[in-house]
Amino acid sequence: MEIDLSENLPQEFISDCTVCCRPIEVTVTSGARGEPVMKLRSEDDTA
Ligand SMILES: [Zn+2]
Repeated sequence: MEIDLSENLPQEFISDCTVCCRPIEVTVTSGARGEPVMKLRSEDDTA
């Protein structure tokens, strides 16, 4: 998965799961030290 980490955080986009090709919601935010933190919300989280 390639992400264009620009200065514009947070970012949200949809990526397809490489296993089952279902869409995954990806959110990239800035961490405490300014590092990018990627959070994934996949079909597996819809409990
Ligand atoms: Zn999947």
